[in-house]
Amino acid sequence: MKTIIEPFKIKTVEPIKFTTIEERERILQEAGYNPFLIRAEDVLIDLLTDSGTSAMSAKQWAGMMEGDESYAGARSFFRFEKIARELTGFKYIIPVHQGRAAEKILFTLVGGPGKYIPNNTHFDTTRANVEYSGATAVDLPIPIGKDPTAVADFKGNMDTDALVRFIKEKGEENIPLIMITVTNNAGGGQPVSMENIKQTKATASKYNIPLFLDACRFAENAFFIKKKEKGYQNKSIKEIAQEMFSYADGCTFSGKKDALVNMGGFLGLNNDDLAGKARNILVVTEGFPTYGGLAGRDLEAMAQGLEEVLDEHYLTYRIRSVEYFGEKLVQAGVPIVEPPGGHAIYLDAKRFTPHIPAHEFPGQSIVCELYRIGGIRSVEIGSVMFGKKDKETEKFVPASMELVRLAIPRRVYTQSHIDYVIECVIEVYKNRSQLRGYRIISEPPMLRHFTARFAPL
Ligand SMILES: *Cc1c(COP(=O)(O)O)cnc(C)c1O
Repeated sequence: MKTIIEPFKIKTVEPIKFTTIEERERILQEAGYNPFLIRAEDVLIDLLTDSGTSAMSAKQWAGMMEGDESYAGARSFFRFEKIARELTGFKYIIPVHQGRAAEKILFTLVGGPGKYIPNNTHFDTTRANVEYSGATAVDLPIPIGKDPTAVADFKGNMDTDALVRFIKEKGEENIPLIMITVTNNAGGGQPVSMENIKQTKATASKYNIPLFLDACRFAENAFFIKKKEKGYQNKSIKEIAQEMFSYADGCTFSGKKDALVNMGGFLGLNNDDLAGKARNILVVTEGFPTYGGLAGRDLEAMAQGLEEVLDEHYLTYRIRSVEYFGEKLVQAGVPIVEPPGGHAIYLDAKRFTPHIPAHEFPGQSIVCELYRIGGIRSVEIGSVMFGKKDKETEKFVPASMELVRLAIPRRVYTQSHIDYVIECVIEVYKNRSQLRGYRIISEPPMLRHFTARFAPL
């Protein structure tokens, strides 16, 4: 087989800035050792997130000029609505400025004290919005999903047996909806099988609970189904995606992932009553129902992106470039979550730096070192992000996994960029015994990873 190549050529380039190790040591210190507080221009290769960092196509940029900026009833909205509706099948497509705005509206309506939201694994903003409403966010991934060393397909699946037990324990009246995140971002970017979505739907229906997809990476998930699940090899990505959505009663969606745009999202709903209420909140917090916090040009770009992301040449290149990155690290003995998911490589910090205990944030230590030696920005997804203090005992409760995510922006970096990152990760790994832990010196009450400041131990 020949090398799988980028299915595009480059029309516009953006220079990246080189800095020295000494400069980066100072930058790190000034940023409180938190990569979110480093200026982007001081980053050489930015793998902080794949969210909103996509390169748009010439057609998407052309769409920006086509955008209809009318306050109400803009042509751009109807184009976007048609494409999103055809893909998802949802009766109501409610545009929002990004995924968390859809979450905020949804959980304002269905959440609240005494309610529980089960999910394969909540993403950080989803968990925050559930908890902000007063409800409890519960993660029910299959057991191997929590084992970074287990090599298996569809490690993002929901544990449907645990789900049934959970519903029986809490009572279906206290569970306003069940969510499945595709792909499972906080769980290592692992895909969810169609079979698992179907089974979850069957359970949800049995107890009369709606099923929602957190559909940010629906196309990457559909590609994994096509490649790995029996019976889908001859179906198009669009058909597979449509089937995935057909089992759901609604979705939240961040266009900043698989719609290949820099800003945008939507809430998809079938329920008339819920959609009416959602639109009422939308008008107060986001905007009129035909723009919802977005410019007409954003809706054009998102509509175009939703079509482009279904292209199999694109998805083949996308998934292969992540897999290539993972293969090289595994060959060098670097512990990662296996197999690689769709949008990122997750280093397994527990095995990478076993000498640093969870409460000294091993992932944060690796993140800082990657920036120091290579100007690479990554993010900790472990006890900084999800660790807690037990309310009663005041004791530190670590996250179930200590990961470092190297997210790959869509259509942005070439193979030589990735080769450079591989070299840097291997160098950090070789010198891992010298890494030390961190402590938090200041933190906000919620989503602390965004703004907390650290000091090296
Ligand atoms: C990004 C993301 C969100 C939130 O979307 P934003 O556009 O960043 O607000 C929700 N869920 C998952 C799985 C995500 O990856």
